[in-house]
Amino acid sequence: MTDKYAVFGNPLSHTKSPLIHRTFARDCNQDLVYTAIETPLEAFAATVDQFRSDGGKGINITAPFKLDAYEYATDRSERAQLSGAANALKFDGDRVYAENFDGVGLVNDLQRNQGFSLTGRTVLLLGTGGAARGAILPILAQSPANLLIANRTLARAEVIKAQFADNSLIQVCQLDEIPNQPFDLVLNATSASLRGEMPEIESHIFSPDGLAYELAYGKGLTPFLQLAKAAGVSRISDGVGMLVEQAAEAFEWWRGERPETRDLIAKLTIPLV
Ligand code: NDP
Repeated sequence: MTDKYAVFGNPLSHTKSPLIHRTFARDCNQDLVYTAIETPLEAFAATVDQFRSDGGKGINITAPFKLDAYEYATDRSERAQLSGAANALKFDGDRVYAENFDGVGLVNDLQRNQGFSLTGRTVLLLGTGGAARGAILPILAQSPANLLIANRTLARAEVIKAQFADNSLIQVCQLDEIPNQPFDLVLNATSASLRGEMPEIESHIFSPDGLAYELAYGKGLTPFLQLAKAAGVSRISDGVGMLVEQAAEAFEWWRGERPETRDLIAKLTIPLV
């Protein structure tokens, strides 16, 4: 029987995951089917149970079910534990393994596709949601000079500070307390752009030689990227590369084979104008 995979979310009308995974499967000569399952809001666990009993091998999870997926799992990776959210599950008998590849997808996009080495760089991470928390360990693994995490709600940033109490590279603050200095890399991991909004930040945080990275994708020149551009930042990016790279991580985790990503990223990229 052909192995079954799917993305679970609601809504799913704009999901690119089936296209991405079918492309990977074709390129790697892997026999699988990958579908999109728009999941009723109150029926995540029941829908996953049904998918597993129909022979499903693994799923990706998008909003608003990443926390439900984390809870559903029996075994959680360190990255998933830190983010408190899962964006991929793998099924093996009674075991359900949870992973969160968003952060490693982000770092792979920065380093492999954008040629931006994090080592020794100053990094400002805006937001403390699942995507931001999932990015912390992969960023730290690259030995940045420091990592400042700024959030609208300070209490959520302070929870992270407590989790990393023995790590001197991490500082946290509220958005309006960001020091008056430029950062080599500014990551917008808030969800403000999804509503056409911008976190309350000042343009002094951007370095003209640095990189401004919007984790949201397909939104064009978001208010965050507009501010960066107006501040003279020459390198700006949205999260389409992150999307494809996290999918590649999941594909390799499920299938044991690493797909190529560059052509697909180029195909899915919408110019930021
Ligand atoms: P969450 O809902 O978990 O987190 C939301 C975060 O955004 C919180 O820190 C919240 O702050 C902050 N926030 C929301 N609105 C505002 C605002 N107006 N001003 C300032 N801060 C705000 O979201 P996720 O972590 O799941 O997603 C974050 C972003 O990352 C989204 O844009 C999403 O599309 C993107 N993403 C991209 C992926 C990719 O593959 N490219 C994968 C996953 C996510 P507070 O705590 O104060 O409420």
